[in-house]
Amino acid sequence: MTFITRFAPSPTGHLHRGHAYSALTAFDAARAAGGRFILRIEDIDATRCRPEYDAAILEDLAWLGLRWEEPIRRQSEHLADFETAIAGLRDRGLVYRCFKTRKEIDIGRAPHEPAVAYVGAPLGAHEEAERLSRGEPFAWRLSLAAARETLGGFDALTFVEDGVDGSSPRTIQARPEIAGDIVLARKDVGVAYHLAVVHDDALQGVSHVIRGEDLFEATHIQRLLQALLDLPTPTYRHHGLLTGPDGKRYAKRDKAQTLRELRATGMTASALRAELGFA
Ligand code: GLU
Repeated sequence: MTFITRFAPSPTGHLHRGHAYSALTAFDAARAAGGRFILRIEDIDATRCRPEYDAAILEDLAWLGLRWEEPIRRQSEHLADFETAIAGLRDRGLVYRCFKTRKEIDIGRAPHEPAVAYVGAPLGAHEEAERLSRGEPFAWRLSLAAARETLGGFDALTFVEDGVDGSSPRTIQARPEIAGDIVLARKDVGVAYHLAVVHDDALQGVSHVIRGEDLFEATHIQRLLQALLDLPTPTYRHHGLLTGPDGKRYAKRDKAQTLRELRATGMTASALRAELGFA
């Protein structure tokens, strides 16, 4: 089997050290395995993604010394593929229209409590038709109940977490119910991240998903989608997150120093690579 891995950033901001660490981890793993490295731009959310960030990502990664295969797949250019996948799930009764807003779902939730894993059900035909005729916005949610019935339970849903740093691979039981009935499409964002990721990982033949452990939980849901869409399950390797001098992980929202800012201070790519522990 060819080792194929990818780095899949969303162009919602400039890359920082955390992204560089993730990209280099995947790139080096591909090189060490004599495999292939793919760069994929996950720009399905037109409300948050910007072409200038897309261009900056390519520039920053090239500066870091990464090379990738062309053409790059940009998810925004393939929305029809994702819509077809969602339509397939819809035809099999696996998704339903949900008219509830996040606010309605969160009623009673204290600010410090985690978001509610919403589990709902399709509306009756009459109420649904009425709401649709009023033009009310809705989201398509994946029904865990329907998925469970289709698959005869979730026990067979496992994935392999490959040891980082040479520890041995572990087989993990997926628990897709932790996220509730996830949103697969909304009016403003026609396809959700989870569906686009599993679709493209399969399409691009990704054998190893190498990414930060902040996405570990997402794997439970993605494993369910793979089963429902009859897609292969890659091996996963979630790496620890890089933390800054304050002990907190780097994040776009904290205005972590970006790679271009580091570059402007005169830092070289090889100095950054060395700082992050890469040769
Ligand atoms: N596009 C996602 C992000 O920027 C990463 C997707 C993935 O690696 O599975 O957080």
